[in-house]
Amino acid sequence: MAHHKTSSATQSWDKRGWRAYPRIQMPDYPDAAALDAVEKQLSKFPPLVFAGEARRLKSSLAEVAAGRAFLLQGGDCAESFSEFSADNIRDTFKVMLQMAIVLTWGAQLPVVKVGRMAGQFAKPRSTGTETVAGVELPSYRGDIINGFDFTAEARIPDPQRMLSAYTQAAASLNLLRAFSTGGYADMHRVQSWISDFTGGEEAARYRDIADRISDAMAFMAAAGVTAETAHGLGSVDFYTSHEALLLEYEEALARIDSTTGLPVAGSGHMIWIGDRTRQLDGAHVEFARGVQNPIGLKCGPSIPDSDLKSLIWKLNPENEPGRLTLIARFGAGSVGDHLPRLIKVVESEGANVVWSCDPMHGNTIKSASGYKTRPFDSVLREVREFFAVHRAEGTIPGGVHFEMTGKDVTECTGGVRAVTDEDLSSRYHTACDPRLNASQSLELAFLVAEELRN
Ligand code: PEP
Ligand code: MN
Repeated sequence: MAHHKTSSATQSWDKRGWRAYPRIQMPDYPDAAALDAVEKQLSKFPPLVFAGEARRLKSSLAEVAAGRAFLLQGGDCAESFSEFSADNIRDTFKVMLQMAIVLTWGAQLPVVKVGRMAGQFAKPRSTGTETVAGVELPSYRGDIINGFDFTAEARIPDPQRMLSAYTQAAASLNLLRAFSTGGYADMHRVQSWISDFTGGEEAARYRDIADRISDAMAFMAAAGVTAETAHGLGSVDFYTSHEALLLEYEEALARIDSTTGLPVAGSGHMIWIGDRTRQLDGAHVEFARGVQNPIGLKCGPSIPDSDLKSLIWKLNPENEPGRLTLIARFGAGSVGDHLPRLIKVVESEGANVVWSCDPMHGNTIKSASGYKTRPFDSVLREVREFFAVHRAEGTIPGGVHFEMTGKDVTECTGGVRAVTDEDLSSRYHTACDPRLNASQSLELAFLVAEELRN
């Protein structure tokens, strides 16, 4: 079908252009001079990622769009300054590699690995203020903006926090690059971790999958395919992503790709637009349309068909495969109400997109013990509904998007090593949304792999 170049395709773009559009979910900094100084400084710093890497991710995502690869995106809801450590980064990276091997086995396809890491610091909030014991304060908006402590002082937006976020992102990327190529990611090591999966009776079923993967690898090794002989077994491509919410930070890190002469976000390989900031004429869409990186678009139940159609052509006027990933997040039980209508839009437009499933954000509940949580069963159910709809429509379920950590936290309930409502208080460490822990993440990968095999 014809692809529609909207007027915005030919409309000029400037990295400051978003400033003329309505800005929501962003702080009003009290000290304009301090903000200006930080922006100037950041714009002189090296980009965190390079244009060629973003282009490479885009071609890998084009493979996903065509059904020749599968996307795994995951990490913290919000990275924090206080939880920053080499161990935390290593553990999340490690679980993602394990999940990727299991999914490779399930999909029989390469898995494109994208962390919600090294830049995922800003949070949209459903309310501008929060009230505790009769005291009302501005909401916490992520460590790149203000502080988590419930004090008036901490909640003042501070532009210096952008510099701390940049530094933390740079250090995180440095470590991730080392882990990706320095032997840590050797598939044989990763596979041996998978076999250690323990739990109840279900775990035996997962260990059976692990054994089958292990057999396949032993066969390859015997046939002479090893980390030394085959590129791809000893190292991995690992990409970073975050919600491009704080546009002063994004603008300051935007650069011109010297190869193409086109603008690129230097803050992360992939950026996405949140479900709350996808207004057609809003600042966030305006910024994202002009950078060349792969772009994600969160699609929740409130997205009208007509908006999706306009957003598709605004964000991807050339219909470039790999440019646009639609991240569906409806909630278990609601996928059938929304995904088919959005698929119809995409198909009738002939649009090239990656379809990914975020089974986290539509499944947040308040537990009886008062914690914000997500039941493992709801998460799994949404993934299954996502696959079932794509199967029925004949379209491609391209990937999954999880909030997860490599740590043994107790934030989501359920799983084979069941976390109960009462357990939530024991290791509830997230500053924002509840994450799957290491065991729950790997279990989900086993279950998704079974789904992919069906
Ligand atoms: C998120 O990914 O953390 C998030 C806020 O998602 P959404 O925009 O889909 O609500
Ligand atoms: Mn979240």
